[in-house]
Amino acid sequence: MTTQQLFKRLSLAQELSGGGCSSSAWTHTTQAGVMESHNPATGMPLARVYGCSDEDYDAMVTSLQQTHRSWRTVPAPKRGEVIRLIGKALREEKDALGSLISLEVGKIKAEGDGEVQEMIDMADFAVGLSRMLYGHTMHSERPEHRMYEQWHPLGVMGVITAFNFPVAVWAWNAFIAAVAGNTVLWKPSPKAPLCALAIQHLCNRVMEDAGYPGVFGLFTTDRVELAERMVGDERLPLISFTGSVPVGRHVAEVVGRRLGRSLLELSGNNAIIVDETADLDLATRAIVFGAVGTAGQRCTSTRRLIVQESQYEKLIPRLLSAYEQVTIGDPLQPHVMMGPLIDGEAVARYRSTLDVARKAGGEVLCGGRVLSRPGYFVEPTIVRAQNHWEIVQQETFAPILYVMTYRTLDEAIQMQNAVPQGLSSALFTTHLRHGEAFLSTAGSDCGIANINIGTSGAEIGGAFGGEKSTGGGREAGSDSWKAYMRRQTTTINWGTELPLAQGITFGRAEGGTHGASR
Ligand code: NAD
Repeated sequence: MTTQQLFKRLSLAQELSGGGCSSSAWTHTTQAGVMESHNPATGMPLARVYGCSDEDYDAMVTSLQQTHRSWRTVPAPKRGEVIRLIGKALREEKDALGSLISLEVGKIKAEGDGEVQEMIDMADFAVGLSRMLYGHTMHSERPEHRMYEQWHPLGVMGVITAFNFPVAVWAWNAFIAAVAGNTVLWKPSPKAPLCALAIQHLCNRVMEDAGYPGVFGLFTTDRVELAERMVGDERLPLISFTGSVPVGRHVAEVVGRRLGRSLLELSGNNAIIVDETADLDLATRAIVFGAVGTAGQRCTSTRRLIVQESQYEKLIPRLLSAYEQVTIGDPLQPHVMMGPLIDGEAVARYRSTLDVARKAGGEVLCGGRVLSRPGYFVEPTIVRAQNHWEIVQQETFAPILYVMTYRTLDEAIQMQNAVPQGLSSALFTTHLRHGEAFLSTAGSDCGIANINIGTSGAEIGGAFGGEKSTGGGREAGSDSWKAYMRRQTTTINWGTELPLAQGITFGRAEGGTHGASR
């Protein structure tokens, strides 16, 4: 498919398409800035997109509030049915959407398709969930009383997404939020507006046909002031933010100040530990996928490799040989394993990070160069380093893997935990006790801890997210849905007396305690 054919199929225009919408009505604002979307594999512009104005933003929030009033009364399984239809439309457009992701953010096509598959999986999960928004019932301590808890939607929720998962992260949030009865306002990354526009077109079509327009709203902007307005907007009870730690910290502060809820999915600094009993073939494949996949631009990318010293001489040659075979190039070509970084700034950060690592004493074992060709291509790189170096403590969004050695597993776990972030972690071992130690309370401190699986590529069925400066949020599977709802505890008295909790008597009893119950 040519780019023109792809755009046509996904209802995109190369010249100045509308920049925001709620329901199916696109805005016509032309005075609030223009974003240029680039193909990172060539550096060439793909399309230009109008930004939304403050007035567009306000109108959209008002419209989403109105829609919420009716959407929340639609039975949850019926809301699930609508998400099923979105999943169906995504299946039909999987190939085109996967190609668009490759084109706009530089993921290889298999990963672009995989991202769309993740949305489809989330839709399926949300459909099932729409019949399983369970609350507990409790035995009341009072006779002829019934106690239970129920879950209600929050209202309009805000979703701010990062460039590297330009659509899947929205789906994690939006599908669950929608079956829970919320409407959803999405601010995508200004580095990937086309992916967001394509998804919004698809949603509009499905929602309009199903008779429920206006549940999902999108606004595109590259103006930080407008993003900040969204974060501070009391009409949005929940802000789900995916991105870097500094911006996430700011979001948490602003939302916390207004006593709203934030759901934070921030940076990782993920390690794989390889012990003396590890299957090195398995470990090598997982390390290469984790460190090189998506050109190191996943929150779960493997950034540190902590190797038992007896394995170092065996593992490193295997890794170097695997790295040599990594094909770099146009991410839409089937044989290519690694595409470009997102932009020139990312290339500059790759370069400066390696400068700092070298100055700290780091030995570059392979890679380390920016490729002299159009686009933003770099070599996947392995650096012998020390865990405590400041540069190793930071997340650099690039295919740089720091390697270090350890003697005892305790030491390895301490090293793995000794970074500010706490997203994903993995141990390669065939030793039962090592595996259990890694997963014990004294083991990995991350939100994700894997055995004989790398750090990236999580399934949607589990709750996804991390601890410490990764922000503590959980999205996607398990009981993550609770973040999108408010819990209400209800007690019903079906008797003829009014007994108080804790046995308190009030007013009528002789010699009883005078006081109030909670
Ligand atoms: P970023 O922090 O630069 O931007 C993320 C989003 O925040 C974008 O939409 C951006 O426009 C918006 N934004 C910027 N300033 C803002 C402000 N002041 N107020 C509100 N919104 C603002 O991140 P990025 O470069 O797009 O993405 C890469 C980062 O995202 C990495 O650190 C990566 O680890 C993280 N990430 C985390 C997860 C996760 O699930 N933990 C998933 C994907 C990406």
